Amino acid sequence: MTTLFYPIITKKKIISQHIEKFEFNLGIMVVSCWRVEQEGRYYLIDSGMGKMASYLLNNYMENQKLGAVFLTHGHSDHIGGVVTLKQSFPNAPVLISQLEFPYISGEKPYPKRKKTEKKVFPLSTFLSLESESGQQLQKDAGIEAVFTPGHSPGHHCFYHAEDDVLIAGDLFTTNGAGQLKPPMKQYTADLPLALKSGRTILEKYPKSLLSICHGTEVENNFGESEQPAWLTNPTIKEQ
Ligand SMILES: [Zn+2]
Repeated sequence: MTTLFYPIITKKKIISQHIEKFEFNLGIMVVSCWRVEQEGRYYLIDSGMGKMASYLLNNYMENQKLGAVFLTHGHSDHIGGVVTLKQSFPNAPVLISQLEFPYISGEKPYPKRKKTEKKVFPLSTFLSLESESGQQLQKDAGIEAVFTPGHSPGHHCFYHAEDDVLIAGDLFTTNGAGQLKPPMKQYTADLPLALKSGRTILEKYPKSLLSICHGTEVENNFGESEQPAWLTNPTIKEQ
């Protein structure tokens, strides 16, 4: 898709004091990226696909202020934007969990997939979230990577403590009514593990705002007794 359409299909949402979300409506689904502002610098969370990341950088981020790019995981609709981003901003640090390295480099396919990813990257493109400099960049951005495996082996959410917002990536989706739903099953490596990560997050961050890539924002008002039934029993149909 040419960037000409991006202004038409992109919705910018103010999530909290430091966080804005950009939702690209592709018709079949929404793909989101987030911009976190901290001390005069911008941090992009997830790069979308195609030219989404460079579109955002060129239009919303005064590119000399780009601090780093954080990725929740390596699926193509989250990492795909790194291709053009690196052409324009070769020095921008791009962070992802080292647990995603075998899949994003094409060493092996994601669990439950037959083929390796179409877009693969040399590992020199990335800095691991777990490295010392990766942890320092999280501090600089005012966020903390939270390990939430299941949807993919190295999936992470990003928690912004000051704003009490959890950028949840593909930990959950939402339906048309804005209700919390499981991640897309056909793209989820280990659904029971993903739901376990989901339960842990709902318990660990009560009252936080959950901001979801393929969906909208949901207040975490789920006390333990109110958690949706599908979260504790994946065989229950959630629709
Ligand atoms: Zn995904």
